[in-house]
Amino acid sequence: MSLSVFGCFLSACSDTEIAQKAVRTEQGTQPQIAIPEEVPKPQPLPVPTQASKARDLGDFKLVYASVEKPEYQNLEQVFKTSGQIDSLVAGLNKTLALPTDITIRMTDGSNCSKSGTHYRLSQKEIVLCYQDASRYAQEFSKHLKSEAEIATAVLDVSSWDLLHETGHALISVLQLPITGREEDVADEIATLKLIEAGNGWDQAAMNAAKEFAYTAQQQSSTKELWDVHALDQQRSYNILCFVYGSNPKKHASLVQKGTLPEARANTCVDEYAQKTASWNTLLSAYLKNQARPITTPKS
Ligand SMILES: [Zn+2]
Repeated sequence: MSLSVFGCFLSACSDTEIAQKAVRTEQGTQPQIAIPEEVPKPQPLPVPTQASKARDLGDFKLVYASVEKPEYQNLEQVFKTSGQIDSLVAGLNKTLALPTDITIRMTDGSNCSKSGTHYRLSQKEIVLCYQDASRYAQEFSKHLKSEAEIATAVLDVSSWDLLHETGHALISVLQLPITGREEDVADEIATLKLIEAGNGWDQAAMNAAKEFAYTAQQQSSTKELWDVHALDQQRSYNILCFVYGSNPKKHASLVQKGTLPEARANTCVDEYAQKTASWNTLLSAYLKNQARPITTPKS
C-alpha cells in the first residue's frame, strides 16, 4: 500500500513525520537511514505550576487562504458559512494562555496534496487541508443521504483534526512532558476537548471515530505496523471509549449495538477519568478559566 495514501492518516503528520515520509518515499524499497550526527541531551521540561500561571502572549489565528483549485471552492464555502472552525478557534483562545501565536491555515496549498493536514513545527502553523475534507465528504456520501448530513460529518471530522494538530502544537510550544506516543496523545486531547466542550460536540468525536472505522475497512493487512500512529480501527475505538466513558448512560447504545465491545467499555469510565485528570494537570498553568469550556456552542 502506498505511503502517500495512508502514511499519516487523517493527515495528522508533524514536520518530522513528513521528513521521514519523504526519506522513505524518495529512497524507494531501499531506504537510507539518516543518522543524526549529534543526539541532543535530554533536558528537564520547564512546566509551570498552578501557582505560577503562564502569561498569555499569543492566540490561535485562523486564516482562510485563497483556494487554488476550483474543486475545493464549495467546501471552502461550507467551512466559512458554518462558522464551526471559527467557533472552535474562539473557544481555544478563550480557554488557553499561549506563549506565542499559532496560525491555523485553511488551504488546498501548503503541501496539502503531498502531506495532508499537519502541524508545521518551524512555522508554528497548523495546516488544515480541503483535500482531506473532500476525502471525508466522499466517504460519508456512501453512508449518509442528505448534503446537510454529509457537511456536518465533514465539519465534525475536520474539527477533530484541528484539535489533534492543536495537540501537536501545544506539546511543542508549551513543552508538555508526555510519555506515550505523541500521535496517541494528540488523539487523546482532540477527543477529550470535544467531549469537555459539551453542547453536542461529542457528536464530532463520534464522527471522527466513524471516519477512522470506514478507512480501516479499506486497509489491508499490509498496513504499516511500525507507523507512529495506532491502527485506524484502534483509533476509532479509543475515541468511542472516551465518549462512552464520559457518560455511559447517554452513550449506552454504543455498547448495546456492539459499536464499542463490552470488553473495552468496562474500562472506559476509568480511562476517561484518568486522562481528563492528566490533561487538567498538564494544562493547569495555561488555562485562563478552568470552568470555561474550550468552545462556544456547536452550531
Ligand atoms: Zn498527528
